[in-house]
Amino acid sequence: MKYLVNNLRLPLDCDMEDLKQAASRKLGIKAENIKSFRIAKESVDARRKPNISLVYSIVADIDSPSVKPLADDVKPVNETVEQFTPGNQKLNKRPVIVGFGPAGMFAGLILAVNGYRPLIIERGQSVGKRTGIVKSYWENGKLDYETNVQFGEGGAGTFSDGKLTTRINDRRCDRVLEELEKAGAPEEILYKARPHIGSDNLKLVVANIRNKIIDLGGEVRFNTRLERITIRNSRVTGISAGGEDIEAGVVILAIGHSARDTFKSLLNAGISFIQKPFSIGVRIEHPQELINRAQYGSLAGHPRL
Ligand SMILES: Cc1cc2nc3c(=O)[nH]c(=O)nc-3n(C[C@H](O)[C@H](O)[C@H](O)COP(=O)(O)OP(=O)(O)OC[C@H]3O[C@@H](n4cnc5c(N)ncnc54)[C@H](O)[C@@H]3O)c2cc1C
Repeated sequence: MKYLVNNLRLPLDCDMEDLKQAASRKLGIKAENIKSFRIAKESVDARRKPNISLVYSIVADIDSPSVKPLADDVKPVNETVEQFTPGNQKLNKRPVIVGFGPAGMFAGLILAVNGYRPLIIERGQSVGKRTGIVKSYWENGKLDYETNVQFGEGGAGTFSDGKLTTRINDRRCDRVLEELEKAGAPEEILYKARPHIGSDNLKLVVANIRNKIIDLGGEVRFNTRLERITIRNSRVTGISAGGEDIEAGVVILAIGHSARDTFKSLLNAGISFIQKPFSIGVRIEHPQELINRAQYGSLAGHPRL
């Protein structure tokens, strides 16, 4: 039986054994009855400096029938694997995905894992070539309209440090984190309260996901821009991309919010768009040491922070 144990507050120098002991006290069982456990979440509570603590939630697999939880922080968990529901109509052509940002990447991955062998087209270049083109833009200011900070493999955030915070509370978020970790992101993204992949890892992760899709029978074409969608009798029948006509019954548009030219041509073709609410954030950059000192006081620079 598995239990989620929340609010395990421990000092900065705690280790896994301390965590197990703390969990066993909340579960009301002996530590040796915890067969295994994994950290579900780790966050830092720096509100009472210099008493900074780490706060954990763990999922414990226990073999004791007599759990006597000592707090409201213990809940039984039923860890189910996200199920994929196949459609009920045969696809005559493989599904086409337009755009290889996060949305296109995960649509492609899930379809490929489930045997659909998707075709993915992306107007920009692969992440390796893109990195050189973006560097040249930063150094010389010469903009490549197809491959740039917004367009190309990995999508708009590829040159960020890959923060994975989200305000949505969707059970599929865990699957996304697991796939990112399998593709080379640090393991800690699975439990850190504010996970991030890191700029250098991010490019590798993106390329690994592309290779996985290809290994599973999918195809990824770079430098291939969607020019037109053909619709007959209110159904998609194909697309034109990269100078080629491609038959398709299912097209996923994962083109992000910067492809003004594509939006315009889709609107002109009679495809309707729905406006969506959005938030605007302001980015203010400070040196990391300044932030650490403000947040952690004299403990700034501690290896666990
Ligand atoms: C500088 C920067 C930093 C960011 N940092 C973060 C962060 O740390 N954490 C975070 O969560 N979010 C971050 N974001 C936001 C995040 O990048 C976006 O929310 C995310 O990329 C949206 O994913 P998407 O797949 O919907 O679209 P996009 O990532 O925009 O991907 C769309 C893809 O479609 C392709 N495309 C467009 N038109 C066509 C066409 N006609 N034919 C073929 N391909 C086409 C584009 O080339 C692009 O690769 C950042 C964004 C920017 C710009």
